[in-house]
Amino acid sequence: MAKYIFVTGGVVSSVGKGIVVASTGRILKSRGISVSLQKLDPYLNVDPGTMSPYQHGEVFVTEDGAETDLDLGHYERFIDINLTRASSITTGQIYRSVLNKERRGDFLGGTIQVVPHVTNEIKGRIMALAREGDPEVIIVEVGGTVGDIEGQPFLEAARQIRNDVGRDNVVYIHVTYLPYIQATGELKTKPTQHSVQELRRIGIQPDIILCRTEHEMAEDIKDKIALHCDVEKRAVIPLPTVPTVYQVPLILEEAGMGDLLVDRLGLARRRPDLTEWQDMVTRIYQTDQTIPIAIVGKYVQLKDAYLSVVESLRHAALHYGQVPDIQWIAAEDLEQPGAAEARLRNVKGIVVPGGFGYRGLEGMVAAANYARVNEVPYLGLCLGFQVMVIELARHVLGTQDANSTEFDENTSNPVIDLMPDQRGVQERGGTMRLGSYPCHLVPGTKVADAYGCASITERHRHRFEVNNDYRDILASGGLVWSGLSPDGSLVEVAELAQHPWMVGSQFHPEFTTRPTRPHPLFRAFIAAAERSAREGDQFALSELSSGR
Ligand code: GLN
Repeated sequence: MAKYIFVTGGVVSSVGKGIVVASTGRILKSRGISVSLQKLDPYLNVDPGTMSPYQHGEVFVTEDGAETDLDLGHYERFIDINLTRASSITTGQIYRSVLNKERRGDFLGGTIQVVPHVTNEIKGRIMALAREGDPEVIIVEVGGTVGDIEGQPFLEAARQIRNDVGRDNVVYIHVTYLPYIQATGELKTKPTQHSVQELRRIGIQPDIILCRTEHEMAEDIKDKIALHCDVEKRAVIPLPTVPTVYQVPLILEEAGMGDLLVDRLGLARRRPDLTEWQDMVTRIYQTDQTIPIAIVGKYVQLKDAYLSVVESLRHAALHYGQVPDIQWIAAEDLEQPGAAEARLRNVKGIVVPGGFGYRGLEGMVAAANYARVNEVPYLGLCLGFQVMVIELARHVLGTQDANSTEFDENTSNPVIDLMPDQRGVQERGGTMRLGSYPCHLVPGTKVADAYGCASITERHRHRFEVNNDYRDILASGGLVWSGLSPDGSLVEVAELAQHPWMVGSQFHPEFTTRPTRPHPLFRAFIAAAERSAREGDQFALSELSSGR
C-alpha cells in the first residue's frame, strides 16, 4: 500500500511548494524508493489549457496529452519520470465529475455535499495514483495557501486520508515564509504560528515545517517554531533562497529530511545516492561562461510563461559549460523597421517559442528573417516553427501575403492551415492535438543528427500545421522536411538547408528536457550558437589584426 506525503503552503503564495515536492521526490528516489507526484489546483477551471499565460504561466503538457500546471514540469525534471493526467487535479475536474454522477443518478436521491461527496471524489483521485505504477510514496502538493476558501475541500480530503490509510502512512509538510524586519534585524515566526493554527483548525498537525527565508535562521527561531507549532526541532528546516532550484534536494537532504521522512513513514533506511545530482549542481556553480540567447515571444513580461524553454536552454548550455544569458524580447518591439537588427545584433541564438493569436506575430517573423539572413542559429517551437515557414514563404518565395489561417483566414497563401481533424471543433478545452506522437526523421538532416536516431516521440499542443499543398514549393525555397508523422501526413520538424542551424519543430521539445539529460534539439541549438560565438570572436580578432 502506498504512503502519502501532503505538502501545504502558508503565509504567502510562491514560497516554492512545487520545488519542495519535486525535491522531496528526488531525495526519496535517491534512496531507491519509487514515488509519484500530484498537484491539486483549487481553481474552478477544468485545466489551465484555456487560461492566459499571464494568469497561469506556462501550460505543461504530459505524454498522455493533459494540459497541466507548470509545477508538473518541475516534478518531471526533478524525478525524471513521465507523469500522466492523473497527476494534475483541479476543483473544476472534481465538480464536473461529481455533477456528472449526480445527473446519471449515481447518488440515488441523496443530497450532494462537499463532505463527503466532493471530498470522496478528491480522495478517489489521490488514491487512484497508487494504481499507476504502484509507487511506494505519493507526494501531493495542495495548491494555494492555507486559509484560502477554495482550498478547504482539498485540505479536508488530505486530513481524512490519514484515517483511511493509518496515521503512520501519512506525513504533512507545511512550507511557510519567515519575514525579515530590517529595523530590528529579526526573522519573524508569528505568521508561521498563525498559519499552523489555521491548519490545526482543519485538523491537520504538520510533521515537518519548512521555513523559506532570505536570511540565516538562528537556533532560537527553530526552537520557537518547534515549541509553538508542536513539531520536533529537527523537523523545523530552513529553506534558503538559492541561485539554482536544483540545489534544493541537496539542502533538504543535508538538513536530514530524507531520513526524517523514511523514519516517519516506516520505510527502509537506505543510503541516498545523489552523486549525479550533486555533480550537476556543482557544475552549475562552476559555470560562468555566458552565451547571449534571445527569446522572442508574446508573453515575455511573465518569465514563467516560458519556464520549460528556459530550463531547456539552461540544461543544454550547461552541457557545454555555458550559462544562457537570456535576452527577453517582446515580439511586438521588433515590428518597426530596423528594430530586429538593433535588438538582435549581439545575440548568438534566437528562440521563438509557442503562442496563440496574432499579436506580436510580425515581430516574430522579423526575428526569423533576421536569423535566416544573418545566419544566426534559430530554434522555432510550435508557433516559432510556423513563423519560420511564413517568413520563408514571404521573403524567399515572394508570396507577400503568406500566412497562417489562424491570423488571416482569407490569405491567398495559407502556408499554415488548420489541421483537417480540427475542422468543426467548437469546444476550446482540451481539443487541440495534444500529447505524445511518433515522428520519423529523415537520415542525414541536422535534426536526425541531433537526435542520433531515426524515430522519436514528442509532445504536441497545436491546431495548425504546415499546409501540405505548399510542401513542394516551400521545399524549393530551401526548407527541408526533417521529420514527418509515420503516415507522412503531418510535418513535425523542419530545417533550412542553406543555414548553419535554423530548425523549427511543430512539437514542444522543451517538455522533455532533464537537467542531467538535455534535450537533443536544444543541445544542437546551443552547440550551433556556441560555434557562431567562437567564429564571431575569430572574425573580430582577424578584423583587429588586419587593422580594419
Ligand atoms: N497557435 C498555433 C497552433 O495552434 C501554435 C500553438 C503553439 O505554439 N503551441 O497551431
